[in-house]
Formats: sequence, structure tokens, C-alpha cells
Amino acid sequence: MKTSVKTPAKHSAKSGAKVQEMLIGGRFVRAESGATRELFDPASGESVGVVPEAAREDVQRAILAAREAFDRGPWRKTSALERGKLLLKIGDLVRADAKAFAELEVRNMGKPLAEAEYDAADAANCFEFYGGLATKIHGETMSVPANSLSFVLREPVGVCGQIIPWNYPLLMAAWKIAPALAAGCTVVLKPSELTPLTALRLARLIHAAGVPAGVVNVVTGPGAGAGEELAANPLVDKIAFTGGTVTGRAIATAAPGNLKKISLELGGKNPNIVFADADFEAAVDGALFAAFANQGEVCSAGSRLLVERKIHKKLVAAMLAKIPRVKLGHGLTPGVKMGPLVSAAHRAKVEGYIQVGVQEGATLACGGGRPKGAAFAQGHFVEPTIFDDVTPDMRIAREEIFGPVLSVIPFDTEDEAVRLANDTVYGLAAAVWTSNITKGLRVIRELRAGITWINTYHPTYNEMPWGGYKQSGSGRELGLYGIQAYLETKQVNVNLDETPLGWY
Ligand code: NAD
Repeated sequence: MKTSVKTPAKHSAKSGAKVQEMLIGGRFVRAESGATRELFDPASGESVGVVPEAAREDVQRAILAAREAFDRGPWRKTSALERGKLLLKIGDLVRADAKAFAELEVRNMGKPLAEAEYDAADAANCFEFYGGLATKIHGETMSVPANSLSFVLREPVGVCGQIIPWNYPLLMAAWKIAPALAAGCTVVLKPSELTPLTALRLARLIHAAGVPAGVVNVVTGPGAGAGEELAANPLVDKIAFTGGTVTGRAIATAAPGNLKKISLELGGKNPNIVFADADFEAAVDGALFAAFANQGEVCSAGSRLLVERKIHKKLVAAMLAKIPRVKLGHGLTPGVKMGPLVSAAHRAKVEGYIQVGVQEGATLACGGGRPKGAAFAQGHFVEPTIFDDVTPDMRIAREEIFGPVLSVIPFDTEDEAVRLANDTVYGLAAAVWTSNITKGLRVIRELRAGITWINTYHPTYNEMPWGGYKQSGSGRELGLYGIQAYLETKQVNVNLDETPLGWY
């Protein structure tokens, strides 16, 4: 079995594929050391590209370019209107290239094409949302108890280090770059070493759109070295991180070297609560989609299904009847609803949790293994897996698995549902299914989570704030909230009294 990532080599990969280049200071370049990494389609094992393997010195170069562009380049002098127009142009370019982005995402990351197409459209929308918002950033005037004209200016934070994961590579890049540019910041983006291809393609479009040199830099490299440098380097004013909670903790301790601003979007173990009075068919679909969209490799996945006991067995039976429709395969194959996991190492982690679930005594209702057949032989596939009769103390109920593994936990009362839902160190997302809107809203108000739904799961919008309570992170991305993380706040007091102070 091939792994999707090979150990970095000093030279071009054996496949002879051309090495792609990173964007640093307005130029497309390789790693200074010449090191590269070859990437493999996680469904088929075929080579999908070779990228530079950046180390600390490459990231330092990118940070210096971003610093120069922020401190001395033309970027800070651009008007909000010009920045907005550039973002709208990038949005247009992404939309025009959406098909190629979607196919590349599937080959690099594994998700089904329909999901990748949705991501590409959403990424274009994100650039357009922040293109529109650029001209609406404003301060305010305050009435103060003095003869002073006192007002507040909003200014860009400066150089932003942005580190993103592998599950939504293009979308996460858009969520990071768009608000930063709208605010007038400069950026060094580091995609996951597993899935850098769409971020590199995006870098080409951003360059073609006419974004000045050094304003956006994209470096491809691992967390160790490249990522660590971005988090710790004192020339970076702000670090925006999306990824695992353990890495988030490491970044939070590396970053305070220069007390840089930090925003963190981390993991989740999200409750999806189904009451007996819910629309049954909608809840069945919703429970499956919550757990298995994007192979369950979603921070906001509904990986804990809390079901009112009255319908518990019926709901599980209905899910099992529909499981064959969660068709596995290569994401580019028509009709496929679930692709492979991103890498061999990640599959091993997910399979480890499946073993844990069995050992803990949960009932393996379906899946748990690798699909059989030649079509799956070279990929990192795992069957959609449902554990029933899970108890809240089990590890499969408490830890983020980040794969297609659903834990079903029955409950008896509304209070118990809320208590179980909140019984987690995480607080990213949660959903409630009920036909009683009063109950639905009452429960939502009790849930300690930043992203919630009633009678649906997963839809999210560029206009709405994204982020978590508790150990799911700090700060919010997207919407009007997302821009705040990229803005400083300056007070200005203009003395309107011409007489000297007379203090001495
Ligand atoms: P990860 O934490 O392993 O890696 C994320 C990024 O951090 C990668 O680019 C990686 O190279 C980099 N990195 C790793 N170690 C680093 C270090 N010491 N210093 C600096 N950078 C470092 O996460 P992953 O496996 O890529 O993604 C899965 C995780 O991401 C899950 O926990 C998931 O819940 C989370 N996630 C959260 C959100 C959200 O919005 N809250 C969205 C997507 C994914």
C-alpha cells in the first residue's frame, strides 16, 4: 500500500513530475534546500504532484517579504475600494477555475467531487463577501467629557501567519486570506503538507489578479520547522491557526514570544440531538450526513448522535438501511458519496479508534473495516462505521476521531440530552432535531457551542461567524466577526481647546 505522502527528498521525485513552486515576495520559487515532497492520490496511490518542502529559512524569507510589503510596500496606501476590487477579481478567477480546483482537491485530498465543487464555489463567495466588506470597515466617534474630537480608527494588524489543515484545503485558504486582505494585512499562508495543491493554484490566481509582491506568500512545508517558525517568529504580528487542539496548544505557547495576536479554530466532538418528535426521515438523513460528509473529516462533524430512547432502535435501523447508499470510491467517480481518508497514517489512527470502540464494549452496528475489491486496494478507505449503545465515558464518545465513525448514545429527557451534549471539553458545533420549535430553541440556548442548527446539519455561510467555545478555539472567522481578528483599534483625541494646558 502506498502512502499519500513520501518522505521529503532533496531532489525531484522519481515520477519525474515538475516541481511546483511557492509564492514568496511576488516570485514563484522552490525551497532553498531544494527539498521536495511528492503527493499521492489517497484513493488510487497515483502521483498527483511534487511541491517544495519549505524549512525555517524559506518561511523566514516569506515573513521578510510580507514584512517589507506591509511596512514599506504600496499595500498600506491602497484604498479600501482598491483592495475590495482585487478581492472581487480573485473571487471571479476562483469561480472561473472552479472545475479545475474541485478536481485537484479530490485528487489531493480524497473528498467526493460534489463536495469539492461546493467548496470551490464557497471559496469564491468568501473572496466576494470580503471584497464587499473592505469598504465597510469603519471606526466611530465618541462623545467624551472634554473639549476633544475623539474618534476610533481601525487599522490592519500587520503581517499575519496563517496555518491551515488538510480537510478543506482551498476553503480554509480562502477563509484566511480574504479577510486579511480586506483589512489591509499581508499574509504568509502555510497549507497542510498533505494537501498544498489547491493553495498553490490559488497563489497563481492571486498573483495574476495583481496583488502586489509580498502581500500574499504561500509556503508549502511541514508543521515541524516551517509551521513552528511561522508561529514563533517575532516579525509576525498575528497567527491564525486552524487544526487540531494539540497543535493549537503548541502554537499558543510558541506564539507569545512577541505577544502576537492569536486566533484558533480547533477540533470538536459535536452532539447531534434527535428528539422523538422530529421529522423522522429528515433526521435519518441528517444524522448520516452529519457523520459521513467529507468522510467524517470535519471539525464540526456530528460524531455523537444523541437519540431519544423512544426512537433509538428505529432510528439506528433506518440509518443501517440507508448505509449502502453511502457509496465509497474515488471522489471523481460519479455517484460516490465517500472517498478515502487523507493518508495511511490517518487511516491507522481512525482504525485504532474503531478497535478501541470494540474493546470498550460498544455495539459495532455497521462498518469497522476496509471495503473489499480492486477499486479500493490502493486507497486509504474505511467503511462508514456506526457504534451503537455507546456510553458517555467511552473514548469513542469523548475523543475526536476525525473519520467516518459515529457514536450513538440514547437519552430519556431533555435535561439529560443537554447534559450529555455539553459533557465534552469541546464546544464547536451542535444540532437539534425536533418539530417543537420552542423546545428546539430552549435546547440551543443551553448548548455550549459556537455553531448550531435546528433541523439541519452542516450548512454554514460566509456571512455567519465560525468558531468554538471551550477547547474548540478562540476568536471567530467569517462574517462581520471574522474581519475583527485582522484589525487593530486606535483611539485619536484632537484637542479643540486652543488655550495652553496651564498645568505648570
Ligand atoms: P494539525 O493540527 O495536525 O495540522 C494543522 C496545520 O498545522 C498543518 O498545516 C500542520 O502542518 C501545522 N502544524 C502541525 N504542527 C505544527 C506546529 N507545531 N507548529 C505550527 N504548525 C504546525 O491538524 P490536521 O490533522 O491538519 O487537521 C485536523 C484537525 O483540524 C482536526 O482536529 C479538526 O477538528 C481541525 N479543524 C478545525 C476546523 C475549525 O474550523 N475549527 C476546521 C478544520 C479542521
